[in-house]
Amino acid sequence: GAEAVPFKKHGIAREHLSGPALKVTDKLQAAGYTALVVGGAVRDLLLGKSPKDFDIATNATPEQVQQVFGRRARIIGRRFRIVHVPFGQEIIEVTTFRGDADEVHTDEETGRILRDNVWGDQEQDARRRDFTANALYYDPAKQVIYDYHHGIRDLQRKQLVMIGDPERRYREDPVRMLRAVRLAAKLGLNIEKDTAAPFANLITLLDDVPQARLFDELTKVLVSGAAEACLVELHRTGVYRAVLPQLDRLMRDAEDRAFLLAAMRATDLRIAQNKPVNPAFQLAALLWPEVRQQALELEADGQSVLQANLGAIEEVLDRARGMVPARLASTMREIWSLQPRFESRSGRRPFRQLEHPRFRAAYDFLLLRAENGEVETELAEWWTRFQDADAHTQTEMLQPER
Ligand code: ATP
Ligand code: MG
Repeated sequence: GAEAVPFKKHGIAREHLSGPALKVTDKLQAAGYTALVVGGAVRDLLLGKSPKDFDIATNATPEQVQQVFGRRARIIGRRFRIVHVPFGQEIIEVTTFRGDADEVHTDEETGRILRDNVWGDQEQDARRRDFTANALYYDPAKQVIYDYHHGIRDLQRKQLVMIGDPERRYREDPVRMLRAVRLAAKLGLNIEKDTAAPFANLITLLDDVPQARLFDELTKVLVSGAAEACLVELHRTGVYRAVLPQLDRLMRDAEDRAFLLAAMRATDLRIAQNKPVNPAFQLAALLWPEVRQQALELEADGQSVLQANLGAIEEVLDRARGMVPARLASTMREIWSLQPRFESRSGRRPFRQLEHPRFRAAYDFLLLRAENGEVETELAEWWTRFQDADAHTQTEMLQPER
C-alpha cells in the first residue's frame, strides 16, 4: 500500500498546479473516476522546481476519458495508448493505470515490453513506473501525496532509485538507462548504487532500441536545461555509447570538450532565460569537430575552403542519416556552411550573410568557436559590431577587396 502524505508534510498546494491540470483532475473526479497528478510534475514540485508539464493518471480508460472531454481529447500512441487533452498551448497527458509487468506482453527472449495496454489499479501502476521519485501521485482535491515506494525519502536523500530489480527493469526497457542519467543530471540526484550497477553489462541492449526512440531521448537530454551536466554524466557512466558514440573521443580532447560543453552551457542558459532553443545548434556543435577534420582532409586534396566545407558537411550528415531527422540536418547544414563565409569582410558578401535566415544561429556558433580559440576573437567582434551598425558605419567597416 501507499503512504498518504498530508499537506502539512509536503506543502504542495493545489494552486501550484496549472489551471488545465486542475480542470482535468476535477472533471474526471466529478465524473466518478480517480484522477491524480503523477510523475515528473510531483517530483519537480517537491524539489522546488516548476514542472514543464503535467501528467495525469486515472482509472478511466482512454475511451472514458474521451467521453468526459469530448472530441478535442485525442487518443494517441499504440504501444502506450494515452489521451491528450489540449488547453490552448498546454497539453495535458492522461494515462490509464497500467497493470503489472507480468501481465504485460514481453518478448520471451529479451524480456522487452512489446505491448503495454493492460489496465490495472493504482498500486500496479506505481510498480511499473521507473524510479521511486516518479511514482508519486498527488490528489489536488485532498492535497495528499500517495507515495508507494518511498520516493519522498529518496528525494530527500538526493537518490534516484529504480523500483524493483534494476537489471530486470532495464531489460524490459533499456531506455530507462538513458532516463536515469538524464534525470539524475537534471535534478542534481545521485544514481543509487544498485540502480547504476547494471549499466556496464547492459549498455549494449540500447543498440537494439529503434533509432527514432533513441533520438527522442537524446533530444530530451539536449533541451533538458542541464545538457552540460547530462553529457558529463552520460560520459562518466558509459551510457553515451548507443546515442553518441563519438562522445568519448570528444571528451578526451581538451579543445573539443571545451567547445562542446560551452555549446551545451549556452543552451542551458537560454532555457533558464525562457528563450527558444533548437537542438540542431547543439547537434551542430557535437559534430563540428568531425566536419572540421573532414574539411582539412579535403583541403589537403586541393579543394578550396568553401568546397571542402560543403563536401565535409555532406559526408558527416550522410553518416548521421538514420539518426538525425532531415529537418534538423538542414538547419545544421546551414549553420555549418555559413562558418567559412564569416571570413569574407569585403564587397556585398557580409550583407548577404546578415540577411541569411540562419544568420543568428550561425553567429552564435561563431562566438563559440572564437571563445574556444578556433577563430580570432577580432573576427567575432567585427561581426558583433557590424550587424548593429548603421549603413554608413557598415560600409566603413568593410575591408578592401583582395
Ligand atoms: P520530464 O521532466 O522529463 O518530463 P518525467 O519523469 O515526467 O520527466 P515523462 O517522460 O514525462 O518523464 O514520463 C512521465 C512518467 O511516466 C514518469 O515520471 C514515469 O513515472 C513514467 N515513465 C516514463 N517513461 C518510463 C519508462 N521508460 N519506464 C517506466 N516508467 C516510465
Ligand atoms: Mg513529464
